[in-house]
Amino acid sequence: MKVLVCGGAGYIGSHLVRLLASKGCQVVVFDNLLTGHREAVGDAPLIEGDLLDPDALRTLFAAHRFDAVVHLCALSEVGASVTDPYRYYQNNVTGTLNLLDAMRTADVDKLVFSSTAAVYGYTNATIIDEHHPTQPINPYGASKLMVERILSDAAAAYGLRSVALRYFNAAGADPAGDIGESHHPETHLIPNVLRSALGRSGALKIFGDDYPTPDGTCVRDYIHVNDLAIAHQKAIDFMVDHAGAEVFNLGNGQGFSVSEVIAAAARVTGSDIPFEWSPRRAGDAPVLVASSIKARKQLDWHPEFVDIDGIIATAWRWHSHQRY
Ligand code: UDP
Repeated sequence: MKVLVCGGAGYIGSHLVRLLASKGCQVVVFDNLLTGHREAVGDAPLIEGDLLDPDALRTLFAAHRFDAVVHLCALSEVGASVTDPYRYYQNNVTGTLNLLDAMRTADVDKLVFSSTAAVYGYTNATIIDEHHPTQPINPYGASKLMVERILSDAAAAYGLRSVALRYFNAAGADPAGDIGESHHPETHLIPNVLRSALGRSGALKIFGDDYPTPDGTCVRDYIHVNDLAIAHQKAIDFMVDHAGAEVFNLGNGQGFSVSEVIAAAARVTGSDIPFEWSPRRAGDAPVLVASSIKARKQLDWHPEFVDIDGIIATAWRWHSHQRY
């Protein structure tokens, strides 16, 4: 099987590329290296290019016959999407349309799309399943939901098979310790906590202490990046027998507040984490916790990393060996 991984040099993409290669898939990576890293793709061929460049996509699909595409190229910072929405819609929606068009021309009919829990927005639900109303509260989440709608229309009109995976909070790193999360600037909680533990970025800013949660800080569902990678591989297999556009949540089903993550990181690293209280960050929902029962049943997907300390320990192995 030959799989195109768009965004394969990024955090989740590089873990997926490693997994697919280990299963004997032929993998080709397409990435603009804006946030991805050349060294993260291992031995897989890397084509440097952008989804906003239709010519680059034509050349790519003319050179290879792909059985399936996994699309993880996106701008993904909630705060930046609020201040620069045009850039987010252009990159995340127009870029995807270019990819879908190139796939259709080349007769490639299977796509795994990286979506997000941010499609749900504010919610009072303690646990969110796929039937929960989708009301994104930031342009990032809205751009992903627009693509899900496009995929549903494409299934009806062109017979495109797709699986949209709504990730909750991707976390951790391959236990081998040689690939992991590396964004510049880093906005995500666990890397920032670990950098503060290492004394490399000053005190961690905790965004908001007055959310309607038990300790006032936001609650998220952290899911290990290798478990996410396995779900992509299972989604590719799923599409062989299933037509249409499907959506699955991917999470652990357990929520941890920002303060609880800091406490777990202190246990794992053996260091106190310096922190300071800051105002709320624009676009943050108070609580996002997944029901992944559908993925467990239909994809036969069962996360292996279920414990927050274990997830943070794999991230710690990666971050403590990085030179920032
Ligand atoms: N957060 C924080 N300080 C940071 C980074 C994140 O307090 O330096 C909070 C953020 O406001 C959110 C949670 O941690 O409530 C998870 O944020 P992250 O950016 O990791 O993921 P998101 O849920 O936005 O996808």
